Amino acid sequence: MHFDRPMHPRFLLLPVVILALGACGDRGPIPESYDPPGSTITTGRPISDQPRRTIGFRETGVWVSNEYAGARLSDFVHVEDSLYRAVIRPENAPINNSAWYGFAIWADAPDTIAVELTYEDGTHRYVPKLSRDRATWQPIVDEDYAPDTTAGTATLRLAVGPDTTWVSAQEPWISGRFDAWTAGLPGVVRTDIGESLRGRPIRMVSFGRESSPEGLVMVISRQHPPEVTGTLAMKAFVETLLGDGPQEDAFRSRFRVLVVPLVNPDGVDGGHWRHSAGGIDLNRDWLDFNQPEARHVRDAMVSEAERTGAPVVFAIDFHSTQEDVFYTHSRDLVPNRPGLLDAWLDSIRVAVPGYELVEEASGLGSPVSKNWFFEALGATSVTYEVGDEQDRDLIDRVASSAARALMAVLERNGGA
Ligand SMILES: [Zn+2]
Repeated sequence: MHFDRPMHPRFLLLPVVILALGACGDRGPIPESYDPPGSTITTGRPISDQPRRTIGFRETGVWVSNEYAGARLSDFVHVEDSLYRAVIRPENAPINNSAWYGFAIWADAPDTIAVELTYEDGTHRYVPKLSRDRATWQPIVDEDYAPDTTAGTATLRLAVGPDTTWVSAQEPWISGRFDAWTAGLPGVVRTDIGESLRGRPIRMVSFGRESSPEGLVMVISRQHPPEVTGTLAMKAFVETLLGDGPQEDAFRSRFRVLVVPLVNPDGVDGGHWRHSAGGIDLNRDWLDFNQPEARHVRDAMVSEAERTGAPVVFAIDFHSTQEDVFYTHSRDLVPNRPGLLDAWLDSIRVAVPGYELVEEASGLGSPVSKNWFFEALGATSVTYEVGDEQDRDLIDRVASSAARALMAVLERNGGA
């Protein structure tokens, strides 16, 4: 890359910034209980929709837009010379710090600019992913990326020109992409189980033994809009259960799998940080069920359990946080398949040598899906959190190993 003008002095700070990041890199995952006050009151709170618009600067010929699903850009200003500032606000506050952003940027003529990402009610979290075609995405290279952990901002150096560059907190997985993915899955039934608050369909994918299965496996993901790495793990997990082979065939001939891959389509397409269109953290609504999204998933799952008369042997909810962690239940809580959890975790550890599987077990105190699956259905249940910047190939390996481990363990004690 060739630069024809000096860059903004912010980039001179880069080595110092990297040292500062390294110093806090050992911090463990933020526990599930990390919530702003009032998160478990789920009756609904107003949100502000971002203005959808394209902003241009006559003096420099630089353009930016958030006019597409999954975008988030609240404002964009030209500070000076080649420096611009993006302002990112959440849908409402207080809110867990999952500061999602996404915008398209281009210029009338090739140029190199600096864009400072700034946030209200939050701080910079996600390493930017860039794309020229919205199909393939790459993390920004280190030389072009200067996070400022003190200010909670980050400055990006971008080569812009007439061809659009998309900048996003994670490679986007919006509702249309989920639909394309589920449409390509072999041998599944797709059902609309209800509508989100804004009228988007909530879709369930079912496969395996239709009548009198020995057990049900329930899979959900994307209650929280930015948690794309959780979706990548869910995708690998489900595709593995749908794979070819004697183990997969045997599993599907005995068990039935229900998958709701996108629980919060309004939040995902709206570019939200955390909440639904009702302004609520949906994974705090699994006790009161005030929000339609959680209600529809509950009703569809319960209805299939009643129709088949089969026990729910395993439930998994995919999320993302700073590092991989499996949230499980305390061992003094006994599900309908005792021993399945430890056998499953041990099997994953054996299958992925060198991967440090972190487990945090807890009681049933918080109104999250994992606890509902356990309390209401007796299921061994897990919240599988995937690191924001976890290597995408490793996500595939761990999640597909987790699916194979589940099939192996259920083969042994599933019908017990
Ligand atoms: Zn989450």
